[in-house]
Amino acid sequence: MTMPAFRLERPRSLADAVSILATHGPDAMILAGGTDVVPNLQMKLFSPRVLVDIKPLAKNAQLASIDWSPANGLRIGALATLTSICESPLIREKFPVLAAAVATIAGPLQRNMGTVGGNLCLETRCQWYNQSDFWRKSLGGCLKKDGPICHVAPGGKFCWAAWSGDSAPALLTLDAEIEITGPQGARRLPLAQFYKNDGMDRIALGRDELLTAVHVPARMAGRRGNYHKLRVRNSIDYPLAGVAVSMHVDSRGICRDARLALTAVNPAPLLVKEACEWLAGQPASPELIDRVAQQAIRTAKPLTTSGSTPVYRRDMVRVFTRRALEESWRSADGK
Ligand code: SF4
Repeated sequence: MTMPAFRLERPRSLADAVSILATHGPDAMILAGGTDVVPNLQMKLFSPRVLVDIKPLAKNAQLASIDWSPANGLRIGALATLTSICESPLIREKFPVLAAAVATIAGPLQRNMGTVGGNLCLETRCQWYNQSDFWRKSLGGCLKKDGPICHVAPGGKFCWAAWSGDSAPALLTLDAEIEITGPQGARRLPLAQFYKNDGMDRIALGRDELLTAVHVPARMAGRRGNYHKLRVRNSIDYPLAGVAVSMHVDSRGICRDARLALTAVNPAPLLVKEACEWLAGQPASPELIDRVAQQAIRTAKPLTTSGSTPVYRRDMVRVFTRRALEESWRSADGK
């Protein structure tokens, strides 16, 4: 489990980082908090010639700060640590679904190191992929790395490795956009369009681009929200299934607007689009909550992994959806 050989670059500015990435293309890899990248390097999942350590750029306030204004909404620099997000009084008060989801990521040490940009760009995970080089070679590799077949679905040519991040589903329920910086400058992209639902080609980020910020519109502030997560060890593990809900419930108990997103049960974090349509304008009822929970199950396509079974994970999606909706409905947000 030693690191492969690489050259370490420490850019002094964002422009410098983009230039290094553009120069080295597929030979370069970005390192921020390192909580995902370093173990993956130790497992020889990648062997970049150049590792571009962007963490020192956090001294640039724009890249690590958390800013809010009623006109511009919430802006989080990509290098903001996960701890700074889940402990931010502003995010806890105005965007509780995000604070709740980020507080479940790994353990305190990883949250102190890990960044929101890194969490949004995680590698997809699979029990046949996240293993040592020695372990993978004994099976002849797989489609995602050095092999001819997928061990999860041997007849196909698609990689079903699961998207296993926690901040993305929460941010999807807040209609977040991301800011991507490359040689042509900065561009904004709805977070929902960032994920490709493909275990191998997971995100829409060019080799010469960096994710530099996350934006949440001001209209999403103050909504009720929560996040439920299944994992083997509650103190540290990646999700095996996760459900995020954000909801605006008026003083009469009518849902005015809602979003529901799933994680760890597909190769991308996904919004359950029907939930948004079915919940708007409705009071709470067991029938409606059950209907949405059934649709969440239909959206979830978990495949075999260690620590649980697809059947149990789908069932927990149903349980979490029901719980999250009931909790959100219990108190009106007064909008
Ligand atoms: Fe490999 Fe298949 Fe797992 Fe993808 S889903 S990492 S191709 S075994």
